[in-house]
Amino acid sequence: MNKQILENIMTEYNKKRLRAAHDADLRKQKLYGQFPNLEEIEMQIKLLSIKLSKLFLTKPDNLNEQVLNFKNEIEELKNKRKNIYEKNNIPANYLEMQYECNKCNDTGYLPDGKKCSCLNRQIINNLYTMSNMVHMLDKENFNTFDISIFSNEMYKNEKLTPRQNMYYILEISEDFCSNFYDTNMNLLLYGSAGLGKTFMCNCIANALISKEISVLYQTAFSLFEIIENHKFNKQNESDENRINYNMIFECDLLIIDDLGTEVSNSFTNAELFNIINERLITNKKTIISTNLSLEQLRDTYSDRITSRVFNSFVPLKFYGKDLRYKN
Ligand SMILES: [Zn+2]
Repeated sequence: MNKQILENIMTEYNKKRLRAAHDADLRKQKLYGQFPNLEEIEMQIKLLSIKLSKLFLTKPDNLNEQVLNFKNEIEELKNKRKNIYEKNNIPANYLEMQYECNKCNDTGYLPDGKKCSCLNRQIINNLYTMSNMVHMLDKENFNTFDISIFSNEMYKNEKLTPRQNMYYILEISEDFCSNFYDTNMNLLLYGSAGLGKTFMCNCIANALISKEISVLYQTAFSLFEIIENHKFNKQNESDENRINYNMIFECDLLIIDDLGTEVSNSFTNAELFNIINERLITNKKTIISTNLSLEQLRDTYSDRITSRVFNSFVPLKFYGKDLRYKN
């Protein structure tokens, strides 16, 4: 998982705890403003408690007797306090810190050092937000993938029917997810529009994010926009852009969708090579999805890009009739 994401979340937890302390303070001020005798009682309890602990240090002859007296006095004051609370319908825990999560008191961790369920949920939420894929949270995943929409009739000169082909793609994709850290695989999803490439990307992203693997999804167009903003507009670069830029290199999986729709020039070519190369060197996975054919890829991009891609990406060809016009 991305370090930056955890840092962001922990900053949020710190803010939550500060807010809880501040709110408890405000409630105290308000309560004591309304019931000054409560503040008085609170002060007396504190004083008596201090005297009590001093007793144990000085150990007078009648220690037990004095301790008992102090304890009774404190008990009496506590009863008084309780009566005021009850008479005025003040909840007993009114002055206690009110945490959003009572299991971890908004620290994110349980006493045994394990992550609290609220932290796990935060991590997943953040991964989704970072991935750019919040919109498809539940809709597009391996469980909702419907293979039956792919035709089982032979298509052009292909050896497999579109459905058989999709079984193959599905198997590779699921394998990619279950062996994510052990595989050297990168995926190249190619073929005409409307054949389920983006859907497959979403399935993969969904499966990985739920395993706390960081994913960044960008169309090629927005990917280069982020890079341009970072390189040529540094003074005015937004935090979001900077985080996205770092994620391009740091996320566990980068999905570049719609490669070929960007304005291709020597700048984008150099940057694309840099991204693919950096990620291969650091063994981070990349999925490229494109409407271009392999020949068109070769024509559009420099030799060093295509040779990197053709040597280290598993090509998955999507073919068949455009699904978007079918129901
Ligand atoms: Zn918690």
